[in-house]
Amino acid sequence: MAESFDAFVIEDAEGKPKGGFKRLTLADLPDNDVLVEVAYSTVNYKDGLAVSGKGRIARKLPMVAGIDLAGTVVESRSPDWKAGDKVVVNGWGLSETQWGGYSRFQRLKPEWLTRLPDAFSLEEAMGIGTAGYTAALCVDALEKWGVIQPGGKEVLVTGAAGGVGSVAVALLAKRGYPVVASTGRPETHDYLRGLGATGFIDRAALLEKGAPLQKERWAGGVDSVGGQTLVNALSQTVWGGAIAACGLAGSADLPGTVLPHILRSVTLLGVDSVMAPPDRRNAAWTRLARDLDKDKLAAMYEVQPFQALPDLATKILAGQIRGRVVVDLK
Ligand code: NDP
Repeated sequence: MAESFDAFVIEDAEGKPKGGFKRLTLADLPDNDVLVEVAYSTVNYKDGLAVSGKGRIARKLPMVAGIDLAGTVVESRSPDWKAGDKVVVNGWGLSETQWGGYSRFQRLKPEWLTRLPDAFSLEEAMGIGTAGYTAALCVDALEKWGVIQPGGKEVLVTGAAGGVGSVAVALLAKRGYPVVASTGRPETHDYLRGLGATGFIDRAALLEKGAPLQKERWAGGVDSVGGQTLVNALSQTVWGGAIAACGLAGSADLPGTVLPHILRSVTLLGVDSVMAPPDRRNAAWTRLARDLDKDKLAAMYEVQPFQALPDLATKILAGQIRGRVVVDLK
């Protein structure tokens, strides 16, 4: 095992969070029960905020950033895990209250680990990453609600060319739901069509303030944008339909009315991946293993070296990342 290794650490710089690469040793890591050799992590919107220092993501400093990781167990004091097990970790406060994935080695609590399905390599697991796993949680929530039907009314995916959106499009299409992708980037239409989108709506159309009740179109939807986009999605949802909302890439506001909810029984399904219990995580990963085609997954992500992290953080905040970025820590 290497005596020291690279990590991306957020530290206090005169009262402000400031990130940078640092050499750590195993003795620096938290005293949790499972030591994991991290192969890959990813760059999510939240990581962009943490790495660039534009958002206060870490609630204590110093903090190793990175909200997810995939790796191999090296040592375990827990009977649930043994050396050689391939694992994935999403959320659980990584990069906020717990040291995260931007470190070649990390010590983690046993209950945070999810067993990697055989279908995926460590690289592919992070190709999916927190964004893809969250997309799977959203599709689970919609199916459980029971209103979307294969071959039935359209299902909307907003922020479609982003990480959550791309995987949501692919998962929904695989199950036979007609998927309409909302994107502000027409140049991604071919990519999204390849993932299974059957129709498109310009994201500008969903950003305009509309009537509280609009023409009923969507049986359901996956929204990672929030704000007026989510309000319009709810206003255009059919009686009894539901939108699974997981993101705020556009806005954290919800500037709408109760009318879709009280006059059309439309439901807003909130989806949080960070504290999702293990049974939901396992269900989401099982869905991904079953429904996410390998060739589609390969088209969704690129692998970048660890050293490119600061540049990638700037790009994701500027909306310049298509699909997902995997960071190689090997
Ligand atoms: P990405 O940056 O990859 O994708 C977000 C997409 O949203 C963009 O690609 C773009 O899509 C669209 N978008 C960006 N800015 C705007 C804007 N101002 N107005 C309208 N659309 C916009 O991020 P992720 O997919 O990784 O994450 C999406 C959201 O989900 C984030 O807010 C993230 O924090 C949240 N999230 C929440 C989780 C949870 O547990 N609840 C877990 C994971 C993510 P396009 O170019 O197609 O228009």
